[in-house]
Amino acid sequence: MDWSLRACGRHGHVTYAPEEEALRTRLRAETAMGEAWRCLRCGDFALGPPRAAGPARDAPVVLRGRALRDAAVLRLIAVFRWTKAVLVLAGAYGVWRFRTGHDAVRRAFEQDLPLARPLAHQFGWNLDQSGVVHTLRTALAARTTTLTWIFLALLALAALMLTEGIGLWLLKRWGEYFSVIVTSAFIPVEIYEITERASAFRIGLLLVNIAAVLYIALSKRLFGLRGGRAAHESERREASLLEVEEAGRAAHGPGRAPRPTGHS
Ligand SMILES: [Zn+2]
Repeated sequence: MDWSLRACGRHGHVTYAPEEEALRTRLRAETAMGEAWRCLRCGDFALGPPRAAGPARDAPVVLRGRALRDAAVLRLIAVFRWTKAVLVLAGAYGVWRFRTGHDAVRRAFEQDLPLARPLAHQFGWNLDQSGVVHTLRTALAARTTTLTWIFLALLALAALMLTEGIGLWLLKRWGEYFSVIVTSAFIPVEIYEITERASAFRIGLLLVNIAAVLYIALSKRLFGLRGGRAAHESERREASLLEVEEAGRAAHGPGRAPRPTGHS
């Protein structure tokens, strides 16, 4: 499966005419059907004028090679987060259903109590001052409040995971920071859960999350790691420039005639 070709099929080829004459001639080809430009993503020639032009340093950064692999890993993590968010939402729904069911029990208790009152009175038992009734009332009320808080906490957790997934999927830098901070914050909880009851699944989940945090923080140079944002940007730009040059060299390599593609 060639992901570059798939991306070009969906979004069209990425052609760019650099101002630098040397690079320009290497990316351009003259065909019987007119000029063609080498696509920076899939490497094929696309007929027609370039999509954009300018200095080579402003050439679009195309997701290919390492950048494409990085994006695939981040989007895989995003899918994991969304899956977890759906599970948490299902849990929240369960708590909500139980909570409302719980309310029904309480309502029944409050409605039936007045009916029981005259009968209890016959036995000389004042229900309104009964310790048992009072305890039952507070227990039902307190538990409903607790369930509401659990429900709200689960909703907040699901919102965190959905946001994290969106940031990672869109390959945003805030998404990377968000993910590293949120995932790190839950690592102590995961360790605590393992000390409570160790299972292969829990340990595996912890290792995956630690690996995700390290991968994102180091590969994206977050928190000033490995030179920080400036180093990350220059690395990407450098890679992009090198790719423009490589594509040019490949175009004029021995025995490699341009193969114009019909679409652009
Ligand atoms: Zn292409």
